[in-house]
Amino acid sequence: MSDISREHDFDVVVVGAGTAGLPCAIHAAQGGAKVLLLDKDPKIGGTLHVTGGHMAAAGTRRQAERGIEDSAELHLADIQRITQGTAREDLVTVVAQNAAATIEWLQDRDFPFAPETPRIVYGHEPYEIARTYYGKDEGVSILEVFQAELDRTVAEHDLTVWTASPVTEILQDSEGVATGVSVLRGGDEVEVTARAVVLATGGYGADAELFQELEGAPLVSAAARTSTGDGLHLGMAVGARLQGAGTYLPTFGGLPDPQSPGRANWNDRQRLTSERPPREIYVDMDGKRWVREDEESIDEKERALVGIPDQTFWTIFDDAALALSTGTMNEMIVGLEPDAVRAVADTRVGVHSASSLDELARKAGIDPAGLVSTVETYNSYVAAGEDPEFGRTYLPAPIAQGPFYAVRNHAITLVTFQGLDIDAEFQVRDEAGEVIPGLYAIGEVIGAGATCGNSFCSGMLTTPALTFGRLLGTRLATA
Ligand SMILES: Cc1cc2nc3c(=O)[nH]c(=O)nc-3n(C[C@H](O)[C@H](O)[C@H](O)COP(=O)(O)OP(=O)(O)OC[C@H]3O[C@@H](n4cnc5c(N)ncnc54)[C@H](O)[C@@H]3O)c2cc1C
Repeated sequence: MSDISREHDFDVVVVGAGTAGLPCAIHAAQGGAKVLLLDKDPKIGGTLHVTGGHMAAAGTRRQAERGIEDSAELHLADIQRITQGTAREDLVTVVAQNAAATIEWLQDRDFPFAPETPRIVYGHEPYEIARTYYGKDEGVSILEVFQAELDRTVAEHDLTVWTASPVTEILQDSEGVATGVSVLRGGDEVEVTARAVVLATGGYGADAELFQELEGAPLVSAAARTSTGDGLHLGMAVGARLQGAGTYLPTFGGLPDPQSPGRANWNDRQRLTSERPPREIYVDMDGKRWVREDEESIDEKERALVGIPDQTFWTIFDDAALALSTGTMNEMIVGLEPDAVRAVADTRVGVHSASSLDELARKAGIDPAGLVSTVETYNSYVAAGEDPEFGRTYLPAPIAQGPFYAVRNHAITLVTFQGLDIDAEFQVRDEAGEVIPGLYAIGEVIGAGATCGNSFCSGMLTTPALTFGRLLGTRLATA
């Protein structure tokens, strides 16, 4: 059933009420446009419900109050160093130049900054200057500010919000100009017209099929369940081209989710080497080591992880190492003291224990001969005080005192790297590199590769999503 009426004619339609869509719709409406904000989910927020919500900006009031000297130029140089020049220079320049205003906008609305911010965050390749900010409740702190601002904007401006309303098609005229969208509302197909259509639908970390097609890799996901790649499908259906091929990077690892195969809990993971020196070794399914475990760069390890079978590895350690892994930031598995690890061994999916390495390998699904041989070789390196194979220098003790443990880790997808190609004005481009008039894309739908390249650069997804949303919304209000 089709229902076309004046009631469904807007200046701007924003598809996706998440990190990028919320500021875009709010700024467009506050600037005087008649705006429709749509989300397929019954609630707004998208990834803001699960994200760490780290943001990065230089030259803010908060930095000045703490005596931190910084500038957009230094931020940009740091982004280029961390991404090794693999991000889109035009887009990261826009982020670096406008991120401070995003942070000020939040501060002016009583954003509850975590008191220790801005700080340098070491989970990935760190910035040189303290410029990462987050809220006391991570992404939810950002969402709460936007919920209040959205309510105020709906009351005072021409902003309509439809939730539980998935967009199924982009409408175009005979010249190829985007003229609106088809949306399912209460079971009916409704056609909405607008002079600007903004895709802010997020990534595809919850779409195993599209993920396999684009990355050719198995998907273990910690992305929001709403990240189903709809924007990529919608855009490609009107000829949009993708960017970001080859930039995919998983995060280092996480334990399998006991309830949902194919998903992982981002916080349920081993302690990283950047957090504590490793007493364990990492082996693949052949029982072979594949990286220098004490490599400090988590990005280097993530790049190595992409190359091993099934992107799965096991941390192998003995009871003597486990006994020493006690206290905050020193555990083998985040939040689990030695007795808790012993207790979950063989009851929790992916955590195994055995009195011999051979039996351990059989339980875990690792090649037994490979594991036994690798541990023997590793122990000989410990005795010699040198690891000629990988150059590991932290060799505290042999893996010799049973019981032995194996904890399975799989590369986790938090964000997805390919997405719709846009120009620096956020207009979607087609296969020929020409702009599709009336069609815009912001947020993870443009691919994490656009602003992070082949790396994880602190805050360089949340900040671009919020900043591009604010800039585009403001621009579309007056266009
Ligand atoms: C666990 C986790 C931690 C992270 N931590 C950080 C961090 O600390 N710093 C950082 O920079 N980045 C981080 N990220 C990434 C960052 O949070 C996301 O890239 C960003 O929030 C995505 O914003 P978005 O607006 O593109 O998508 P979302 O916020 O996911 O919004 C998309 C919205 O579109 C809706 N939608 C989808 N399809 C349709 C459709 N067909 N019709 C209508 N609506 C639709 C969805 O329901 C959703 O509400 C993290 C991600 C995860 C998963």
